[in-house]
Amino acid sequence: MAGQFEGKVAIVTGAGSGIGRGSALAFAREGARVVVADIAVEGGEETVKQVEAAGGAAIFVETDVSQAAAAKRLVEQAVESYGRLDFAHNNAGLLGKAMPVAECSEEEWDRIMSVNLKGVWQCMRFEIPEMLEQGGGAIVNTSSAAGLIGMERLALYTASKHGVAGLTKAAALDYAKSGVRVNAVCPGFINTPMIQGIEDPTTFPTDALPALPRAGTPEDVANAVVWLCSEASSYITGHLMSVDGAMTIR
Ligand code: NAD
Repeated sequence: MAGQFEGKVAIVTGAGSGIGRGSALAFAREGARVVVADIAVEGGEETVKQVEAAGGAAIFVETDVSQAAAAKRLVEQAVESYGRLDFAHNNAGLLGKAMPVAECSEEEWDRIMSVNLKGVWQCMRFEIPEMLEQGGGAIVNTSSAAGLIGMERLALYTASKHGVAGLTKAAALDYAKSGVRVNAVCPGFINTPMIQGIEDPTTFPTDALPALPRAGTPEDVANAVVWLCSEASSYITGHLMSVDGAMTIR
């Protein structure tokens, strides 16, 4: 597909569903070849089908982002298949169970942190050397409104997403002089299976609602991701961009 990202290559993690799928489709629409990474095979393959049906190019790489070997293989696979790596949207994440902090188990802490926080770092530590070798690139990590404000009954998720915000800022500083920009998106309530999958909505915090009178869509987030990877944002790094319908400004 012709577009501003023609000839470029993008990795999107968690691309088998929701925001990641929206991002994969948006990168492809702009002309990038897309490496769809997800732990869920069926979802990942479906995203590749949707990219191809829209006239784009994509491959699926089954990936558990919490595992170093898998993250390394993902980047190797991108370069083997498409010859380069220009963009990465490190987006895979889990919401976890809603409960007060003292009731959370150590297993739940490890599960959430290993995907939401360690997974973003695992991916960046293999993506960045590849980008440095070819002279630059752009990374967008998915934090959350919960990376900016506290969320009741979601302490582990909130901590992991504040961690992604910190990781993003520090990485932006580390590579500011080397041509790799690192930003984050902080989505609010976005209509995806993650939100639809909440078993008992009454246990979910309802205090933080968007000012704009609708839920967000994966496309709303994907548009921000594409812009943060584009030349139009070349003077922006280390930024946490809210895509939340003004949920966190109150
Ligand atoms: P989703 O559940 O639709 O998609 C998440 C994807 O991540 C799934 O395809 C899942 O298989 C994948 N995944 C989970 N663990 C993985 C692992 N270990 N390795 C690789 N892939 C893995 O959810 P979504 O709403 O699209 O969420 C995407 C990101 O956006 C997450 O980081 C989430 O925390 C964040 N986010 C979502 C919202 C929202 O309202 N939906 C708001 C703020 C932030």
